Parts: sequence; structure tokens; C-alpha cells
Amino acid sequence: MTLFIAIAWFLGIVGAPIVASNKHRDVGGWLVLGILFGIFAFIVVALLRPLDDVETIRQADAWTRSCPHCLSRIPEAASVCRYCQRDVQPINAGSQRVRPMVPTPISDEERRRLFH
Ligand SMILES: [Zn+2]
Repeated sequence: MTLFIAIAWFLGIVGAPIVASNKHRDVGGWLVLGILFGIFAFIVVALLRPLDDVETIRQADAWTRSCPHCLSRIPEAASVCRYCQRDVQPINAGSQRVRPMVPTPISDEERRRLFH
């Protein structure tokens, strides 16, 4: 019985951080949980879904831009927005990105000229 508990505890201490590392989770935190809870920490981390790799998200984001009409994220090379179906100007790799459509403040003089 003591041997079984020792093996279960050891599996938690060693296994939980390894599984956490494979799932892009906090290795140090799961090591502590493995020390405290043994095999229960191993079971919990084994059941958790992997966190998305930050680098994968960055790379995916690097090849997308905002649709100028509906502001949804679409591929840079797209010529039609998949969400609003409107034509958009494709961007070639390495060219300047489209700035997000943010209203820019105008001066009082411009406001008087435009609205009076
Ligand atoms: Zn759109």
C-alpha cells in the first residue's frame, strides 16, 4: 500500500509537469500541484485541453488584417471578405498594412468649414 502511494505521488510530481509542458501550461505551477496532490494533479492536467501556442497565434495574426467594411479578421491576400462578402483590396506580403479604421479628430477650423 505504501509503495502504491509512493508511485502515485511520484507520478504526480514527475508526470504532471511533463504533461503540462506538452500542453503549453505552467510547468512550475503543475510541479507544485504534483507535489501537493500527487496523481490527482496528473489526472487533472491530463484532462485539460492544451493552451494555444502563443507563437502560433502570433504567426496566424501576422497573415491577417481587418476588413475595412465589417472589421472582421481576414487573410491579407483575400480579395473578398468571407464575412460580409464585399470586395477588399488584396495586400501582397511585405507591403504596407491597412490601418484600422479609427476616426481621427479634426480641428475646430475643419469642423467649421465642413459643417457650416
Ligand atoms: Zn467584411
